[in-house]
Amino acid sequence: MTERPLAIDVCGLHKHFGPLEVLKGISLTAREGDVIAIIGGSGSGKSTFLRCINMLELPSAGSIAIHGETIALKKDGHGGLMPADRNQIQRIRSRLGMVFQNFNLWQHMTVIENVIEVPIQVLGKPKTEAIELAETILRRVGLYEKRDVYPAFMSGGQQQRAAIARALAIQPLVMLFDEPTSALDPELVGEVLTVIGDLAMEKRTMILVTHEMKFARDVANHIVFLHNGLIEEQGSPDAIFGAPKSERLKKFISSSR
Ligand code: ADP
Ligand code: MG
Repeated sequence: MTERPLAIDVCGLHKHFGPLEVLKGISLTAREGDVIAIIGGSGSGKSTFLRCINMLELPSAGSIAIHGETIALKKDGHGGLMPADRNQIQRIRSRLGMVFQNFNLWQHMTVIENVIEVPIQVLGKPKTEAIELAETILRRVGLYEKRDVYPAFMSGGQQQRAAIARALAIQPLVMLFDEPTSALDPELVGEVLTVIGDLAMEKRTMILVTHEMKFARDVANHIVFLHNGLIEEQGSPDAIFGAPKSERLKKFISSSR
């Protein structure tokens, strides 16, 4: 059997914030169709890891490749790295759909304006095409009727589904989710997990940071447990949740129930 192509290949990733070393050498590969869940305690480096993948944070050392294209970095003269090619960063970002904990929708734009903004302004899609695609995606996430509503008038669950629609509208190769349900009232978590679960069923490549352990177990094919900037343990959902080896992971799982 030939292996599926590499979607994301991270090698030896380090990240410092001043003296604080947040990522201490992380290597992880996602192949096309992989759904990787990242779990771990608060402050373990989960968000920083995702933010490095789409260059919202610059790595201090290590390499990141998206679909075989390695992000070119050069020394910044202060012991860190900086992009060698700004155009490449733009191009690579446009292949990654990011969903944040706090939705981060543009408040002064309606739902559909949020969804078509990047396709039109950054990717140069014709407006009619962008609107057509946006409407299809909004139907999928159950927000077609809300297309002309401003974010402030929607529930958190609706706002997060709009943020997912916005990320899908760039037709990304990989979706990155950073605790997409943590800011939601408990009764709104389900509707967002349903949308993400549907994407996972379509075998869309994704990396998902989540505290929803049952969900991670159900949708992911690989689980990564981060502790203190390192991968403490990783494996199949059954191995991680059914037969964890590390004492820290055992403790983490029992405290998350
Ligand atoms: P997690 O998402 O697992 O909770 P984060 O990646 O957000 O963890 O943060 C890991 C550590 O890095 C924390 O100690 C946090 O305070 C620190 N950190 C994150 N972002 C910054 C930043 N921009 N500047 C300084 N420290 C940061
Ligand atoms: Mg975080």
